[in-house]
Amino acid sequence: MIPNKFNIFCPIEHPQYSHIISNFLFRSFDFITKEEADFFQKRLVFVETENQKVLLNKFFAKGYIASDGRLEKLVMDSIKQNLSKAMSMTPFFIHIVPHHNCNLSCKACFSQNYEKKLLTLEMTDKIFEILNNADFMPKNVPPQILIGGGEPLLDKPKEREIVENIIQKVKAQNLTLQISTTGVELKSYIDILKDYHEKLSIDINMECSEHISDDFIDTIETAVNSKLSIALHVGITRANIQFLPSLANLIMNKMWLYLKNFTAFLRPIKENMCTCPHLNNLDPELTMEFLKMRKEYPQLELFNTHGWHGLDLVDFIIKKKELPPPRFYRCRPEFNFLTFAPDGLIYKCYNAIGNPEYSIGEYFPEFKLNYEKEKLWQKGKIHNKCLVCPMYPICGGGCLKLMIDYKVPFFNLPDCQTFVNIYKECLKFYAHDLVEMFVGK
Ligand code: SF4
Ligand code: SF4
Repeated sequence: MIPNKFNIFCPIEHPQYSHIISNFLFRSFDFITKEEADFFQKRLVFVETENQKVLLNKFFAKGYIASDGRLEKLVMDSIKQNLSKAMSMTPFFIHIVPHHNCNLSCKACFSQNYEKKLLTLEMTDKIFEILNNADFMPKNVPPQILIGGGEPLLDKPKEREIVENIIQKVKAQNLTLQISTTGVELKSYIDILKDYHEKLSIDINMECSEHISDDFIDTIETAVNSKLSIALHVGITRANIQFLPSLANLIMNKMWLYLKNFTAFLRPIKENMCTCPHLNNLDPELTMEFLKMRKEYPQLELFNTHGWHGLDLVDFIIKKKELPPPRFYRCRPEFNFLTFAPDGLIYKCYNAIGNPEYSIGEYFPEFKLNYEKEKLWQKGKIHNKCLVCPMYPICGGGCLKLMIDYKVPFFNLPDCQTFVNIYKECLKFYAHDLVEMFVGK
């Protein structure tokens, strides 16, 4: 018998158990004693007692061990195939970047280096003509639209004309719309958005800070009262985390959480929109600081931590009493996803916008898609290191752009061990709660 590749052994401090063992492929999660851990680590070859046989069967049934790697590969291939089939049937997600004219300089924004460009009315017409007629668009599955950027909702005449034109087209076709904004000038767009609230969601990205302006509070208040679905995404750093309890108090005092159309998310500030752990600021110390604060200030429980690598997995386990399902999810560009940028080019990756080398075609003045280049993203290579990484069933292999470049030598890949470490540190932090929850007192 040999251990399977995706096992994660986490030592814990507990009177009864010495480790938590988990495996995201088989969704297995167990507490084991020191004796059991020793037995496992002796490579499972010295099976002498009845107890050890029972244990061996248990490890086998939970997917921690196998006689060889075939079963693991079979399970993995079948899950990946089903997921990929399911994702290929999801609606196209169309990211429209109306302009790069924002003057804010948010830490988390990737668009500051782009040439200032603005879509024209002809370009927006062309985008919707493509969405309605292109062969690759499924006929009975309408696309979902994301208006992003930079900050798309500027209160300036030219930018407003383009953004409102996109919104009107979305409304005319009854499409689902998501807008990603800082909310700074959102209030001036509420009139055009409020009658569309059933098919609209708005992500407001903000940094946690000591002073939240009255205008910003009023914007959220007006938006939620207009029935707009608001997801507040709060970015934290070690420098601003101390202001989190007062932000949580504000949200509670305003009673926004009692409304179905308001949610709040929290994660460390990063420099891009990527889901990949390669490209995120994974900071174990910040995570630990947050966990300690959350014990001290229970109101911080109101923040959903989805997207906070490592912590979100443990929060899922605590909430659902099971491991999240394997999702092999790298990032949106791997699936039905296109970005229409103001330079007239079509991209897959958020971070590639403005760099024609990475475009997969153009849409203005003529529409030409390079299917070969597009395929590179859909069937992105997977680094050998990822294939044996215990987080692979969750992460799916990280940044596609890096692998398309393939300029990154093996040893220079960012150290994703931090992702595993954060997961383990969170397990350790909640070890007693988890034992109580799964095994009882
Ligand atoms: S090494 Fe692991 S965590 Fe890092 S990108 Fe690969 S699969 Fe993801
Ligand atoms: S390919 Fe890489 S850089 Fe592009 S969106 Fe995905 S994770 Fe981010």
